[in-house]
Amino acid sequence: MRRGILLQLAVAGTLLVELLVVPRSAWAPTLLVTLALASAGIAYLVTSTRTQFLVPTIFRGSGNERTLAFTFDDGPDPVFTPKVLDLLREHDAKATFFVVGKRADAHPDLVLRAIREGHTVGSHTYSHAHTFHFWRAHRMASDVRRGIDSVVRITGRAPRWFRPPQGLRVPTLRDALARAGASVSCVTWSVRGMDATSRSAEAIVARVAKGLERGAIITLHDGRGLGGTNDRTPTLNALAELLTMAKARDLACVTLDTLLAPPPAEERVACGATAP
Ligand SMILES: [Zn+2]
Repeated sequence: MRRGILLQLAVAGTLLVELLVVPRSAWAPTLLVTLALASAGIAYLVTSTRTQFLVPTIFRGSGNERTLAFTFDDGPDPVFTPKVLDLLREHDAKATFFVVGKRADAHPDLVLRAIREGHTVGSHTYSHAHTFHFWRAHRMASDVRRGIDSVVRITGRAPRWFRPPQGLRVPTLRDALARAGASVSCVTWSVRGMDATSRSAEAIVARVAKGLERGAIITLHDGRGLGGTNDRTPTLNALAELLTMAKARDLACVTLDTLLAPPPAEERVACGATAP
């Protein structure tokens, strides 16, 4: 059964039981409290980057290696993506770019440069529309499919990773991913810079530094997000500092493909996960 329907049934069932057991005089406050708690619970499931109930989601690596993954959303951007790529190259760091399909179509050269320089490209929908989370499953699926097709057309490879706008996993998304025939894994993050709305590199560094550790998945932006600022200069300044900090902590910056790669066969055997 779809998880969204399951949630609705659970709330409706709870309300029904309450109507049966609660005296009529207490119906109004009881219903209000129940609906408020249900709304808060559903909001938590949708917005928490770590919950698995609505859509299976990866938010960090195992942390077995001294590696972490920087990810960049909302590009490619003709001004800032090249600067992000330059910085990554200077620091010998790899990253993952969650591209917006229509922007990738407009700047395929930047997507190709990212691939050529050893980075990974994931999909971040085609339109990154303001209303994406409110769409019905078939419309959402079509946008997801177009986003994936854009990456395939440019790179010749199907993306493995998908990030929904704002990392939100609404009840419809699971169905939409299935309808889109998308064999992608949904990835959120363990720490984010809030750089889409921040004008201060110091604030971005302060937020991310706390989570700069083994297995971290860090989210920054190389393009303009929803309602964010258009200037990614604070992100660039913060990135330079964070890459230096990662090196000082002896952490290698790798792509999601590397961070989330299954352990080598001999290691799995050693852990008893598989037997020869
Ligand atoms: Zn985004």
